[in-house]
Amino acid sequence: MAKAVFLDRDHTLNPDSGYISDPNKFDLYPWVPEELKKLKLKGFLLIVVSNQSGIARGLITWEQLNLIHRKMDEILDQKVNIKIDSYQVCPHHPDEGCDCRKPKPKLLIAAAQAFQIDLSESFMVGDRDSDMNAGKKAGVKQALLVTPDDELSFRSAVQQILNS
Ligand SMILES: [Mg+2]
Ligand SMILES: [Zn+2]
Repeated sequence: MAKAVFLDRDHTLNPDSGYISDPNKFDLYPWVPEELKKLKLKGFLLIVVSNQSGIARGLITWEQLNLIHRKMDEILDQKVNIKIDSYQVCPHHPDEGCDCRKPKPKLLIAAAQAFQIDLSESFMVGDRDSDMNAGKKAGVKQALLVTPDDELSFRSAVQQILNS
């Protein structure tokens, strides 16, 4: 079976100024490509799991979101020759009470089924309790909390995964 690192997006992989809709304004933190490459070389699938309620709020379209994710893959391809294996998105408003918004584990479980992932050998990395709880409910080996905009905390989370 495969193993994966599930990655929150905003404030984990990229700075978040709030509902980014323009791909030209999107960039990864500078330390992220190199760290994701290490995970990839260790055999992990890279799966982004992101709450994007800006879609329900009418602040960003699916098309714009897809362009942003294409931009992310372009950056990763150019810098370290990798790409994200899958983008799992909850587009709903928190008030909708959907079954996919983190801290619910559905997006992780759906990806695990699609990619034959052993969740007990997989990890979650994010900056919020809702990320940690989604990972735990899905049954990952470990959920690692990182601090937004903090290089050291992201690098040390990746190191913990590589060492485990
Ligand atoms: Mg976040
Ligand atoms: Zn949802």
